[in-house]
Amino acid sequence: MKITEIKVYHLQKKLSSTMQISRGGFQERNHIIVQVCTNSGIYGLGEGVGNASYVKALLKGPIGEMSIGLNPLNINEIRTKLIDDQVYFERMGSAICAASAIEMACWDIIGKFENKPVYELLGGLKQKTLEAYASDVYWEEDPNKMLERVFAIKEMGLNTVKAHIGFKKPSEDIKRVEAIRKGLGNDHNMIIDLNCGYTPEQTLEAIELWAPFNLTWLEEPINPNLYHEMGKIKAQSTIPIAAGENEFLVHGFKTLFDNKAVDIAMPDIGRAGGILETQKICALAQEYNIAVSPHNYSSGVLLAATMQLMAATKNAKLLEYDASTNAVYHEFFTEPLQMDNGNITVQNLPGLGVELKQEILDKYAI
Ligand SMILES: [Mg+2]
Repeated sequence: MKITEIKVYHLQKKLSSTMQISRGGFQERNHIIVQVCTNSGIYGLGEGVGNASYVKALLKGPIGEMSIGLNPLNINEIRTKLIDDQVYFERMGSAICAASAIEMACWDIIGKFENKPVYELLGGLKQKTLEAYASDVYWEEDPNKMLERVFAIKEMGLNTVKAHIGFKKPSEDIKRVEAIRKGLGNDHNMIIDLNCGYTPEQTLEAIELWAPFNLTWLEEPINPNLYHEMGKIKAQSTIPIAAGENEFLVHGFKTLFDNKAVDIAMPDIGRAGGILETQKICALAQEYNIAVSPHNYSSGVLLAATMQLMAATKNAKLLEYDASTNAVYHEFFTEPLQMDNGNITVQNLPGLGVELKQEILDKYAI
């Protein structure tokens, strides 16, 4: 089998409200989807996560071009050509995100070709259901507005909520942390994501001030390049530290782990190097006795890939899930997802179980 064409789609969904994180607000969600076409008639879907303009340009340009003629059934060849052979100039960044999209789509092709779900190809089913957590509470000037989302998420039966805090300094944002904990009650779990917005000093202050609110983890407190500083923070922190959504390849995670920088590793399949690379990262994390919760915040294609990987990977826990209507999400699934008390059943359709329906393109393609 050979790859004959790479089609790239930029999907954009306007938001009804601004998604505010420590770094500012967003007005829309962007997804870069690839459709990898082959001479067999089978196509696969993948997604590159990162700066949409960069990833799109790479997929329409060099990464897409070098994929033509490769065998999508040979994942190692895909990985070698698109990632290892490019190491002289492109070790990290959007080039890896674009390669991740192609790799993901090739797994979808293999699954359809062999008539098996991707988890079967990755070693078989280890988790039949995945506990999801809601990842869509955003910073608001008025903490009560944040609570509207918190209550809606609780209503859906989800047990864990992630809130994006850190737009203001720790002593001011404590009122938001406190409000969310009160709204959630003590029987629900709470994660705070700082989206790299604080300095190391602010992070230590936040850890001291926010510790009484029983956080499940504190995510990406500082600039992800500061491995050594993250190691110092983790050594002093009473709150577990999570990071990794801005890390690339096994090598990046090894650096993170060697610096003792995280309690929870968060590789993103659409960014870290693809499905196989992320499974290797999960295996490495196990060797270091570090927990794994893959980062998963984009379209239904990434959600499907993340679920398939987690289903086959025992130590990958807590599925990140966008419980809002902001993303192009459920439209991609061939069969609707089943959620019961916050647990999502892993689907067993061939490949990733997603389709690029015409209605998606009509509504969101730009
Ligand atoms: Mg995050």
